Amino acid sequence: MRRKLVVGNWKMNGNLHQLAEIAEIAAAAKAAAGVDVALCPPFTLIAPAVARSNGLAIGAQDVHPAESGAHTGAVSAAMLKEVHAQLVIVGHSERRAEAGETDADVRAKAEAALARGLQTIVCVGESEAEREAGRHVDVVTGQVKGSLPDDGHEGEMVVAYEPIWAIGTGKVATPADVAEMHAAIRGALRERLGERGGRIRILYGGSVKADNAAELFAVPDVDGALVGGASLTAAQFVPIVEAAARH
Ligand code: PEP
Repeated sequence: MRRKLVVGNWKMNGNLHQLAEIAEIAAAAKAAAGVDVALCPPFTLIAPAVARSNGLAIGAQDVHPAESGAHTGAVSAAMLKEVHAQLVIVGHSERRAEAGETDADVRAKAEAALARGLQTIVCVGESEAEREAGRHVDVVTGQVKGSLPDDGHEGEMVVAYEPIWAIGTGKVATPADVAEMHAAIRGALRERLGERGGRIRILYGGSVKADNAAELFAVPDVDGALVGGASLTAAQFVPIVEAAARH
């Protein structure tokens, strides 16, 4: 049985003042039996968020594959661990698009994070054009094969399926679309990692809100959600956590 996992991705949003939301989110996370909850604010807010987290897991939205060195603007897994980050998102479609990250780059980042014991959420997802061309399953299972490290790491690996056309657009994939893709990802994970592939949690991401979370969590192989816009306030995020607790 895989526990549900609900992760908020603040992207490049938030400030010290907004960390006040964390107390309410942490309280809801404690009350939500059987659900793991985490929040990934911008790098600058990780340490102050940890200080207010009251047990809520705090993570990052990216990591560099190297330990240290001449990589201006980058942050390593060791640095994240030092400030008590517990998880990291890698390969988000916005990073794949804006920073040109390839599957190989994402895999190297995931390897570095897992080796340091960080829970690592590897994002995959097709564009609208790829879906319209009927290539969505091949594209996403290809990303799973190319972006995920092999077995044998300390940290927990998680996959997030985020169709690019559903991120921040208000368009949500239908339960049937999500079921098709999560089953295909599960198949690719089992093929690649054997029995362990059955234990890896697969999150759905893309315009998850309080009013659509329950039907998404009811889809087989949906083990939780990666939430962008609706994670910025407790008022919007807590009902999603509560919906996960009901499944
Ligand atoms: C995301 O940033 O991963 C995301 C899914 O965003 P939103 O929920 O706003 O679509």
